[in-house]
Amino acid sequence: IRVLGIETSCDETAASVVALEGTSAPEILSPKILSNVVLSQIAEHAAFGGVVPEIAARAHVEALDGIIEAALADSNTSLDEIDAIAATAGPGLVGGLIVGLMTAKAIAGAAGKPLLAINHLEGHALTARLTDGLSFPYLLLLVSGGHTQIVRVAGVGDYQRWATTIDDALGEAFDKTAKMLGLPYPGGPNVEKAAAKGDPARFAFPRPMKGSAQPDFSFSGLKTAVRQAAQAIAPLTEQDVADICASFQAAVADALADRVSRALMRFKVEFPQEEQPALVVAGGVAANRMIKTTLEELCDETGFRFVAPPLKLCTDNAAMIAWAGIERLNAGFEEENAFDFVPRSRWPLDVVSAPVIGSGR
Ligand code: ATP
Ligand code: MG
Ligand code: FE
Repeated sequence: IRVLGIETSCDETAASVVALEGTSAPEILSPKILSNVVLSQIAEHAAFGGVVPEIAARAHVEALDGIIEAALADSNTSLDEIDAIAATAGPGLVGGLIVGLMTAKAIAGAAGKPLLAINHLEGHALTARLTDGLSFPYLLLLVSGGHTQIVRVAGVGDYQRWATTIDDALGEAFDKTAKMLGLPYPGGPNVEKAAAKGDPARFAFPRPMKGSAQPDFSFSGLKTAVRQAAQAIAPLTEQDVADICASFQAAVADALADRVSRALMRFKVEFPQEEQPALVVAGGVAANRMIKTTLEELCDETGFRFVAPPLKLCTDNAAMIAWAGIERLNAGFEEENAFDFVPRSRWPLDVVSAPVIGSGR
């Protein structure tokens, strides 16, 4: 089975072909990514210090056809050989979602192929099965520019969100911190680079939610503390910026470790299993070395297996969307009409269980 995936929910225009021979579980049969084309719009948005929805939608319109052609060509697959089209239908920026889903509807309709409307978060949630053949259940930590969540992934279409952010997403906190300090967009990599030369102990920033009985994340208080510290010592030298970044990153790692360790404990207590439990990390913030090391150590201490898919599959891509399509087909979800599906800017993962698949005939 071969599926063409399309992803346009944010600032990446992406298409991919993924194949799985037979219909058994991925832990037995290894799936193959035949192509994975991702066009980042970072350059278009950099001048504005963040993603501009209008610009993103227009850029998707311009690029998508070529990206799909490239994904088919790279995979040596003709449209005839594709068994289904899977497109991100939410959550995300609605303009981009419309472009991707409409294009998928047009291709599937014209070629008489089944169409799958995929939840972007489900793509992130199932990636570790594509890359590492992980079996259910496992815990997912999703940390990106738009999301900060801990999800128990129990099966295809079976997700329980255990924690989310009550204010900013973690990537957003990195991006806003960078902006305050005059570092270029996107903030995450630049904060990390500056932090490498800084003193993490110079500023005692708060660790939001640390020790709280509530499972959620919060980062806006930390952001405010960074702003106040920066204003108090302005004008900032290069060393000041480095010290603030290092102290910010230390606070983030510490807060994250506290929140995640709570979830690991809960997983162990509520769902004891013979196999070693696993924690999967996804999202662009997973690129951060210090955050990765912190999570790795936490897993070591608590007996969890730490799974970090290659960064190209952790950040937004269409291979994860094609794969989610394969998983849903394989799970035998009944057909419903995805051609009527309207893109959803908000679409929590816990309500994904309803099958959204339609036949092009
Ligand atoms: P979403 O997928 O939630 O809709 P998104 O497209 O912003 O949103 P990604 O592309 O997965 O998410 O990740 C981008 C985010 O990751 C940005 O906020 C960026 O600052 C952050 N990021 C990237 N590299 C690093 C890094 N080295 N350290 C910290 N954060 C990083
Ligand atoms: Mg992105
Ligand atoms: Fe994403």
